[in-house]
Amino acid sequence: AEDSKRRVLKDVFGFDDFRPGQDAVTEALLAGRHVLAVMPTGAGKSLCYQVPALVLGGLTIVVSPLVALMQDQVAALRLAGVAADTINSSLDRDANVAAWRRVAAGQTRLLYLAPERLMTTRMLEALARLDIRLIAVDEAHCISQWGPAFRREYEELSRLRGIFPDVPIIALTATADETTRTDIAAQLFAGCVETLVLGFDRPNIKLGIEAKQDGKRQLLSFVQRHAGRSGIVYCLSRKKTEEMAGFLDRNGVRALAYHAGMSKDAREANQNAFMTLSGVVMVATIAFGMGIDKPDVAYVFHTDLPGSLEAYYQEIGRAGRDGRAAEAHMLFGLGDIRMRRLFIDDEDAPAEHKRRAHGRLDTLIGYCETAQCRRQILLGYFGETAMPCGNCDNCLDQTPQADGEAEARIVFAA
Ligand code: ADP
Ligand code: MG
Ligand code: ZN
Repeated sequence: AEDSKRRVLKDVFGFDDFRPGQDAVTEALLAGRHVLAVMPTGAGKSLCYQVPALVLGGLTIVVSPLVALMQDQVAALRLAGVAADTINSSLDRDANVAAWRRVAAGQTRLLYLAPERLMTTRMLEALARLDIRLIAVDEAHCISQWGPAFRREYEELSRLRGIFPDVPIIALTATADETTRTDIAAQLFAGCVETLVLGFDRPNIKLGIEAKQDGKRQLLSFVQRHAGRSGIVYCLSRKKTEEMAGFLDRNGVRALAYHAGMSKDAREANQNAFMTLSGVVMVATIAFGMGIDKPDVAYVFHTDLPGSLEAYYQEIGRAGRDGRAAEAHMLFGLGDIRMRRLFIDDEDAPAEHKRRAHGRLDTLIGYCETAQCRRQILLGYFGETAMPCGNCDNCLDQTPQADGEAEARIVFAA
Protein backbone atom coordinates (compact mmCIF):
# COMPACT_ATOMS: atom_id res chain seq x y z
CA ALA A 1 0.00 0.00 0.00
CA GLU A 2 2.93 2.31 0.80
CA ASP A 3 4.16 1.85 -2.75
CA SER A 4 0.85 2.27 -4.50
CA LYS A 5 -0.09 5.44 -2.64
CA ARG A 6 3.27 7.00 -3.43
CA ARG A 7 2.89 5.99 -7.02
CA VAL A 8 -0.57 7.56 -7.20
CA LEU A 9 0.77 10.71 -5.54
CA LYS A 10 3.51 10.99 -8.10
CA ASP A 11 1.97 9.62 -11.29
CA VAL A 12 -1.48 11.13 -10.96
CA PHE A 13 -0.88 14.31 -8.99
CA GLY A 14 2.76 14.93 -9.82
CA PHE A 15 3.94 15.33 -6.21
CA ASP A 16 7.05 13.71 -4.77
CA ASP A 17 6.21 14.02 -1.10
CA PHE A 18 3.15 13.92 1.04
CA ARG A 19 2.53 17.06 2.95
CA PRO A 20 2.39 16.86 6.74
CA GLY A 21 -0.64 14.84 7.76
CA GLN A 22 -1.50 13.46 4.34
CA ASP A 23 0.56 10.36 4.85
CA ALA A 24 -0.96 9.48 8.22
CA VAL A 25 -4.51 10.15 7.06
CA THR A 26 -4.06 8.09 3.89
CA GLU A 27 -2.57 5.25 5.90
CA ALA A 28 -5.46 5.16 8.35
CA LEU A 29 -8.08 5.13 5.61
CA LEU A 30 -6.33 2.39 3.70
CA ALA A 31 -6.34 0.38 6.92
CA GLY A 32 -10.12 0.81 7.03
CA ARG A 33 -10.31 3.27 9.92
CA HIS A 34 -12.53 6.35 10.18
CA VAL A 35 -10.66 9.63 10.28
CA LEU A 36 -11.41 13.18 11.30
CA ALA A 37 -8.74 15.35 9.75
CA VAL A 38 -8.36 18.89 11.02
CA MET A 39 -5.86 20.69 8.82
CA PRO A 40 -5.34 24.33 7.92
CA THR A 41 -6.68 25.74 4.69
CA GLY A 42 -4.29 25.08 1.86
CA ALA A 43 -2.79 22.12 3.71
CA GLY A 44 -3.93 19.75 1.00
CA LYS A 45 -6.98 18.05 2.49
CA SER A 46 -8.37 16.94 -0.88
CA LEU A 47 -5.43 14.64 -1.49
CA CYS A 48 -6.14 12.90 1.83
CA TYR A 49 -9.13 11.18 0.24
CA GLN A 50 -8.26 11.42 -3.45
CA VAL A 51 -5.14 9.29 -3.11
CA PRO A 52 -6.89 6.52 -1.12
CA ALA A 53 -9.82 6.68 -3.53
CA LEU A 54 -7.51 5.78 -6.39
CA VAL A 55 -5.59 3.18 -4.42
CA LEU A 56 -8.79 1.51 -3.23
CA GLY A 57 -10.55 1.53 -6.60
CA GLY A 58 -14.34 1.14 -6.65
CA LEU A 59 -16.32 4.27 -5.90
CA THR A 60 -15.58 7.08 -3.45
CA ILE A 61 -18.37 9.46 -2.54
CA VAL A 62 -17.34 13.01 -1.74
CA VAL A 63 -19.79 15.26 0.04
CA SER A 64 -19.18 18.93 -0.49
CA PRO A 65 -21.41 21.87 0.40
CA LEU A 66 -20.92 24.10 -2.60
CA VAL A 67 -21.65 23.32 -6.22
CA ALA A 68 -18.84 25.60 -7.37
CA LEU A 69 -16.33 23.72 -5.22
CA MET A 70 -17.47 20.40 -6.62
CA GLN A 71 -17.19 21.62 -10.19
CA ASP A 72 -13.66 22.88 -9.58
CA GLN A 73 -12.51 19.67 -8.00
CA VAL A 74 -14.03 17.48 -10.68
CA ALA A 75 -12.48 19.62 -13.42
CA ALA A 76 -9.06 19.46 -11.74
CA LEU A 77 -9.28 15.70 -11.28
CA ARG A 78 -10.27 15.16 -14.89
CA LEU A 79 -7.30 17.24 -16.00
CA ALA A 80 -5.13 14.83 -14.04
CA GLY A 81 -6.80 11.97 -15.87
CA VAL A 82 -8.98 10.82 -12.97
CA ALA A 83 -12.52 9.60 -13.63
CA ALA A 84 -14.48 12.03 -11.46
CA ASP A 85 -18.11 13.04 -11.70
CA THR A 86 -20.61 15.24 -10.00
CA ILE A 87 -24.36 15.17 -10.03
CA ASN A 88 -25.78 18.50 -8.99
CA SER A 89 -28.47 21.08 -9.47
CA SER A 90 -26.43 23.33 -11.74
CA LEU A 91 -26.13 20.66 -14.44
CA ASP A 92 -28.94 19.97 -16.85
CA ARG A 93 -30.83 16.71 -16.70
CA ASP A 94 -28.92 15.09 -19.56
CA ALA A 95 -25.56 15.80 -17.98
CA ASN A 96 -26.72 14.36 -14.67
CA VAL A 97 -28.12 11.26 -16.38
CA ALA A 98 -24.87 10.75 -18.28
CA ALA A 99 -22.88 11.12 -15.06
CA TRP A 100 -25.06 8.60 -13.29
CA ARG A 101 -24.62 6.11 -16.16
CA ARG A 102 -20.84 6.31 -15.75
CA VAL A 103 -21.17 5.88 -12.00
CA ALA A 104 -23.54 2.91 -12.34
CA ALA A 105 -21.24 1.31 -14.92
CA GLY A 106 -18.37 1.44 -12.44
CA GLN A 107 -16.35 3.90 -14.52
CA THR A 108 -16.29 6.67 -11.94
CA ARG A 109 -13.73 6.70 -9.12
CA LEU A 110 -14.90 9.84 -7.29
CA LEU A 111 -18.48 11.08 -7.23
CA TYR A 112 -19.06 14.55 -5.77
CA LEU A 113 -22.49 15.19 -4.29
CA ALA A 114 -24.16 17.83 -2.20
CA PRO A 115 -25.46 16.36 1.08
CA GLU A 116 -29.12 16.93 0.22
CA ARG A 117 -28.72 14.98 -2.98
CA LEU A 118 -26.77 12.14 -1.41
CA MET A 119 -29.21 11.68 1.44
CA THR A 120 -32.32 11.11 -0.68
CA THR A 121 -33.78 7.62 -0.41
CA ARG A 122 -33.48 7.09 -4.14
CA MET A 123 -29.81 8.01 -4.30
CA LEU A 124 -28.93 5.95 -1.24
CA GLU A 125 -30.71 2.90 -2.61
CA ALA A 126 -29.01 3.23 -5.96
CA LEU A 127 -25.60 3.71 -4.35
CA ALA A 128 -26.09 0.72 -2.05
CA ARG A 129 -25.89 -1.50 -5.14
CA LEU A 130 -22.48 -0.13 -6.09
CA ASP A 131 -18.98 -0.87 -4.85
CA ILE A 132 -18.46 1.99 -2.42
CA ARG A 133 -15.03 1.93 -0.79
CA LEU A 134 -14.75 5.33 0.86
CA ILE A 135 -16.87 8.31 1.89
CA ALA A 136 -15.37 11.76 2.32
CA VAL A 137 -17.24 14.58 4.01
CA ASP A 138 -15.51 17.83 3.11
CA GLU A 139 -16.06 21.02 5.13
CA ALA A 140 -17.35 18.77 7.89
CA HIS A 141 -17.76 21.66 10.35
CA CYS A 142 -20.99 22.46 8.48
CA ILE A 143 -22.51 19.71 10.62
CA SER A 144 -21.96 21.66 13.82
CA GLN A 145 -25.05 23.53 14.94
CA TRP A 146 -23.01 25.99 16.93
CA GLY A 147 -20.79 26.96 14.09
CA PRO A 148 -21.38 29.88 11.77
CA ALA A 149 -21.35 27.58 8.74
CA PHE A 150 -24.06 25.22 9.97
CA ARG A 151 -26.12 23.60 7.23
CA ARG A 152 -29.22 21.64 8.05
CA GLU A 153 -28.52 19.26 5.11
CA TYR A 154 -25.30 18.22 6.81
CA GLU A 155 -27.18 16.91 9.85
CA GLU A 156 -28.62 14.12 7.73
CA LEU A 157 -25.10 12.85 7.15
CA SER A 158 -25.08 11.38 10.65
CA ARG A 159 -27.04 8.46 9.16
CA LEU A 160 -24.19 7.56 6.79
CA ARG A 161 -22.33 5.38 9.26
CA GLY A 162 -25.42 3.23 9.78
CA ILE A 163 -26.25 2.99 6.09
CA PHE A 164 -22.70 2.06 5.02
CA PRO A 165 -21.35 0.31 8.11
CA ASP A 166 -18.35 -1.20 6.35
CA VAL A 167 -17.14 1.87 4.52
CA PRO A 168 -14.45 4.08 6.08
CA ILE A 169 -15.51 7.68 6.39
CA ILE A 170 -13.21 10.68 6.45
CA ALA A 171 -14.39 14.05 7.67
CA LEU A 172 -12.28 17.07 6.76
CA THR A 173 -12.26 20.56 8.14
CA ALA A 174 -9.99 23.51 8.74
CA THR A 175 -11.89 24.51 11.85
CA ALA A 176 -9.69 23.25 14.61
CA ASP A 177 -11.73 24.50 17.52
CA GLU A 178 -12.38 21.82 20.11
CA THR A 179 -16.18 22.14 20.29
CA THR A 180 -16.62 21.77 16.57
CA ARG A 181 -14.29 18.80 16.50
CA THR A 182 -16.14 17.00 19.26
CA ASP A 183 -19.40 17.77 17.55
CA ILE A 184 -18.28 16.38 14.22
CA ALA A 185 -16.94 13.25 15.90
CA ALA A 186 -20.18 12.75 17.82
CA GLN A 187 -22.46 13.21 14.85
CA LEU A 188 -20.61 11.43 12.08
CA PHE A 189 -18.83 8.76 14.08
CA ALA A 190 -20.68 8.43 17.39
CA GLY A 191 -17.45 9.61 18.95
CA CYS A 192 -15.49 6.69 17.61
CA VAL A 193 -12.91 8.11 15.24
CA GLU A 194 -9.22 8.65 14.82
CA THR A 195 -8.69 12.38 14.98
CA LEU A 196 -5.68 14.04 13.40
CA VAL A 197 -5.21 17.66 14.32
CA LEU A 198 -2.54 19.42 12.47
CA GLY A 199 -1.25 22.92 12.67
CA PHE A 200 1.97 23.25 10.79
CA ASP A 201 3.81 25.41 13.24
CA ARG A 202 6.50 23.83 15.37
CA PRO A 203 7.45 26.92 17.30
CA ASN A 204 10.05 25.18 19.48
CA ILE A 205 12.25 24.46 16.48
CA LYS A 206 14.61 27.35 15.82
CA LEU A 207 15.17 27.77 12.09
CA GLY A 208 18.55 28.79 10.73
CA ILE A 209 20.48 28.81 7.49
CA GLU A 210 24.17 29.51 7.06
CA ALA A 211 26.25 30.04 3.93
CA LYS A 212 28.17 26.86 3.22
CA GLN A 213 31.92 27.29 3.47
CA ASP A 214 33.93 24.57 5.10
CA GLY A 215 30.98 22.25 5.70
CA LYS A 216 32.87 19.86 7.97
CA ARG A 217 34.10 22.59 10.30
CA GLN A 218 30.69 24.23 10.36
CA LEU A 219 29.05 20.93 11.25
CA LEU A 220 31.58 20.17 13.96
CA SER A 221 31.20 23.51 15.66
CA PHE A 222 27.42 23.26 15.55
CA VAL A 223 27.45 19.75 16.97
CA GLN A 224 29.90 20.76 19.68
CA ARG A 225 27.56 23.54 20.77
CA HIS A 226 24.98 20.78 21.37
CA ALA A 227 27.37 18.32 22.99
CA GLY A 228 25.67 15.45 24.76
CA ARG A 229 22.40 15.86 22.84
CA SER A 230 21.01 13.58 20.13
CA GLY A 231 20.86 14.99 16.64
CA ILE A 232 20.30 14.03 13.04
CA VAL A 233 22.62 15.23 10.28
CA TYR A 234 21.36 14.85 6.73
CA CYS A 235 23.78 14.50 3.81
CA LEU A 236 23.07 14.17 0.14
CA SER A 237 25.22 11.13 -0.54
CA ARG A 238 25.96 7.83 1.16
CA LYS A 239 29.69 8.43 0.92
CA LYS A 240 29.37 11.76 2.62
CA THR A 241 27.45 10.33 5.57
CA GLU A 242 30.36 8.00 6.27
CA GLU A 243 32.95 10.73 5.82
CA MET A 244 31.11 13.12 8.10
CA ALA A 245 30.40 10.48 10.75
CA GLY A 246 34.07 9.50 10.72
CA PHE A 247 35.16 13.10 10.98
CA LEU A 248 32.87 13.81 13.93
CA ASP A 249 33.98 10.62 15.61
CA ARG A 250 37.65 11.55 15.27
CA ASN A 251 36.79 14.85 16.90
CA GLY A 252 35.26 13.27 19.95
CA VAL A 253 31.62 13.22 18.93
CA ARG A 254 29.78 9.91 19.06
CA ALA A 255 28.48 9.73 15.47
CA LEU A 256 27.04 6.91 13.36
CA ALA A 257 26.20 6.66 9.68
CA TYR A 258 22.98 5.46 8.14
CA HIS A 259 22.16 4.93 4.48
CA ALA A 260 20.45 2.43 2.24
CA GLY A 261 23.76 1.03 0.98
CA MET A 262 24.66 -0.40 4.37
CA SER A 263 23.78 -3.95 5.37
CA LYS A 264 20.48 -4.38 7.14
CA ASP A 265 22.27 -5.45 10.32
CA ALA A 266 24.58 -2.46 10.35
CA ARG A 267 21.65 -0.11 9.76
CA GLU A 268 19.62 -1.67 12.53
CA ALA A 269 22.53 -1.59 14.94
CA ASN A 270 23.12 2.11 14.31
CA GLN A 271 19.45 2.96 14.49
CA ASN A 272 19.18 1.07 17.76
CA ALA A 273 22.12 2.91 19.25
CA PHE A 274 20.64 6.22 18.21
CA MET A 275 17.25 5.37 19.67
CA THR A 276 18.44 3.96 22.98
CA LEU A 277 21.55 5.93 23.85
CA SER A 278 21.55 9.65 24.43
CA GLY A 279 23.92 12.02 22.76
CA VAL A 280 24.41 10.05 19.57
CA VAL A 281 24.58 11.94 16.29
CA MET A 282 23.08 10.09 13.33
CA VAL A 283 24.64 11.14 10.04
CA ALA A 284 22.26 9.90 7.38
CA THR A 285 20.76 10.16 3.96
CA ILE A 286 17.02 10.66 3.71
CA ALA A 287 16.72 6.88 4.00
CA PHE A 288 16.74 7.56 7.74
CA GLY A 289 13.74 9.02 9.44
CA MET A 290 10.54 7.40 8.24
CA GLY A 291 8.70 6.25 11.32
CA ILE A 292 11.49 7.34 13.66
CA ASP A 293 9.83 8.71 16.73
CA LYS A 294 12.52 9.79 19.14
CA PRO A 295 11.18 12.64 21.22
CA ASP A 296 14.45 14.19 22.37
CA VAL A 297 16.24 14.91 19.10
CA ALA A 298 17.78 18.31 19.75
CA TYR A 299 18.55 19.27 16.19
CA VAL A 300 18.37 18.38 12.53
CA PHE A 301 21.34 19.64 10.57
CA HIS A 302 21.28 19.71 6.76
CA THR A 303 24.77 19.69 5.29
CA ASP A 304 23.16 19.92 1.85
CA LEU A 305 20.04 21.40 0.34
CA PRO A 306 17.03 19.08 0.77
CA GLY A 307 14.84 18.04 -2.14
CA SER A 308 11.93 20.38 -1.56
CA LEU A 309 10.33 22.54 1.08
CA GLU A 310 7.98 19.64 1.89
CA ALA A 311 10.94 17.32 2.38
CA TYR A 312 12.72 19.94 4.49
CA TYR A 313 9.66 20.42 6.69
CA GLN A 314 9.30 16.70 7.17
CA GLU A 315 12.95 16.24 7.98
CA ILE A 316 13.26 19.08 10.48
CA GLY A 317 10.03 17.88 12.09
CA ARG A 318 12.02 15.02 13.60
CA ALA A 319 13.59 17.50 16.02
CA GLY A 320 11.98 18.64 19.24
CA ARG A 321 9.02 16.32 19.37
CA ASP A 322 9.19 16.58 23.15
CA GLY A 323 8.34 20.26 22.82
CA ARG A 324 11.70 21.41 24.15
CA ALA A 325 13.84 23.97 22.37
CA ALA A 326 15.32 22.39 19.25
CA GLU A 327 17.13 23.56 16.16
CA ALA A 328 16.93 23.10 12.41
CA HIS A 329 20.12 24.27 10.79
CA MET A 330 21.05 24.16 7.13
CA LEU A 331 24.19 24.89 5.15
CA PHE A 332 23.34 26.48 1.86
CA GLY A 333 25.63 27.09 -1.09
CA LEU A 334 25.35 27.76 -4.78
CA GLY A 335 26.91 24.39 -5.55
CA ASP A 336 23.87 22.75 -3.97
CA ILE A 337 21.54 24.53 -6.34
CA ARG A 338 23.58 23.41 -9.33
CA MET A 339 23.58 19.86 -8.03
CA ARG A 340 19.83 19.79 -7.50
CA ARG A 341 19.19 21.26 -10.94
CA LEU A 342 21.38 18.55 -12.46
CA PHE A 343 19.46 15.87 -10.56
CA ILE A 344 16.22 17.12 -12.01
CA ASP A 345 17.55 17.45 -15.55
CA ASP A 346 19.12 14.02 -15.47
CA GLU A 347 15.92 12.38 -14.32
CA ASP A 348 14.17 10.24 -16.86
CA ALA A 349 10.87 12.09 -16.57
CA PRO A 350 8.44 14.05 -18.73
CA ALA A 351 9.21 17.74 -19.35
CA GLU A 352 6.18 18.83 -17.36
CA HIS A 353 7.42 16.92 -14.35
CA LYS A 354 10.82 18.55 -14.61
CA ARG A 355 9.28 21.96 -14.93
CA ARG A 356 7.38 21.41 -11.71
CA ALA A 357 10.45 20.04 -9.96
CA HIS A 358 12.43 23.16 -10.90
CA GLY A 359 9.54 25.25 -9.61
CA ARG A 360 9.62 23.45 -6.28
CA LEU A 361 13.36 23.97 -6.10
CA ASP A 362 12.86 27.69 -6.73
CA THR A 363 10.45 27.78 -3.79
CA LEU A 364 13.02 26.13 -1.55
CA ILE A 365 15.75 28.52 -2.69
CA GLY A 366 13.40 31.40 -1.96
CA TYR A 367 13.09 30.09 1.58
CA CYS A 368 16.87 29.85 1.92
CA GLU A 369 17.54 33.31 0.59
CA THR A 370 14.78 35.24 2.29
CA ALA A 371 15.53 38.05 4.72
CA GLN A 372 12.00 37.70 6.10
CA CYS A 373 10.92 35.50 8.97
CA ARG A 374 11.58 31.96 7.77
CA ARG A 375 8.66 30.52 9.67
CA GLN A 376 6.31 32.91 7.93
CA ILE A 377 7.57 31.70 4.57
CA LEU A 378 7.44 28.05 5.56
CA LEU A 379 3.97 28.21 7.09
CA GLY A 380 2.77 30.44 4.29
CA TYR A 381 3.72 27.74 1.86
CA PHE A 382 1.42 25.38 3.73
CA GLY A 383 -1.34 27.95 3.78
CA GLU A 384 -0.93 29.26 7.32
CA THR A 385 -0.46 32.88 8.12
CA ALA A 386 1.80 33.77 11.01
CA MET A 387 3.41 36.69 12.75
CA PRO A 388 7.22 36.98 12.68
CA CYS A 389 8.26 34.14 14.95
CA GLY A 390 11.20 35.48 16.92
CA ASN A 391 12.79 32.05 16.69
CA CYS A 392 14.53 32.01 13.33
CA ASP A 393 17.88 33.51 12.35
CA ASN A 394 16.26 36.36 10.44
CA CYS A 395 13.97 37.33 13.31
CA LEU A 396 16.77 37.02 15.84
CA ASP A 397 19.12 39.17 13.80
CA GLN A 398 16.60 41.96 13.98
CA THR A 399 15.55 41.49 17.57
CA PRO A 400 18.65 40.65 19.55
CA GLN A 401 16.64 41.10 22.75
CA ALA A 402 14.19 38.32 21.88
CA ASP A 403 14.20 36.11 24.91
CA GLY A 404 14.36 32.45 25.53
CA GLU A 405 12.44 29.44 24.47
CA ALA A 406 9.35 29.70 22.37
CA GLU A 407 6.37 28.19 24.07
CA ALA A 408 5.93 24.54 23.21
CA ARG A 409 2.66 23.49 21.73
CA ILE A 410 1.17 20.16 20.92
CA VAL A 411 0.52 20.21 17.23
CA PHE A 412 -0.16 16.61 16.44
CA ALA A 413 -2.63 14.64 18.48
CA ALA A 414 -3.71 11.20 17.39
P1 ADP B 1 -7.31 22.36 1.53
O1 ADP B 1 -8.57 21.65 1.08
O2 ADP B 1 -6.70 21.72 2.73
O3 ADP B 1 -7.49 23.82 1.74
P2 ADP B 1 -6.33 21.65 -1.07
O4 ADP B 1 -6.66 20.21 -1.03
O5 ADP B 1 -7.24 22.51 -1.85
O6 ADP B 1 -6.21 22.23 0.41
O7 ADP B 1 -4.81 21.82 -1.56
C1 ADP B 1 -4.17 23.05 -1.54
C2 ADP B 1 -3.04 23.08 -2.53
O8 ADP B 1 -1.96 22.29 -2.10
C3 ADP B 1 -3.43 22.54 -3.90
O9 ADP B 1 -2.95 23.43 -4.87
C4 ADP B 1 -2.73 21.23 -3.99
O10 ADP B 1 -2.42 20.89 -5.33
C5 ADP B 1 -1.50 21.47 -3.15
N1 ADP B 1 -0.97 20.22 -2.60
C6 ADP B 1 -1.67 19.31 -1.91
N2 ADP B 1 -0.89 18.27 -1.55
C7 ADP B 1 0.34 18.54 -2.01
C8 ADP B 1 1.60 17.85 -1.95
N3 ADP B 1 1.74 16.67 -1.32
N4 ADP B 1 2.66 18.43 -2.55
C9 ADP B 1 2.55 19.61 -3.17
N5 ADP B 1 1.39 20.31 -3.26
C10 ADP B 1 0.30 19.79 -2.70
MG1 MG C 1 -10.57 21.90 0.74
ZN1 ZN D 1 11.10 34.17 12.31
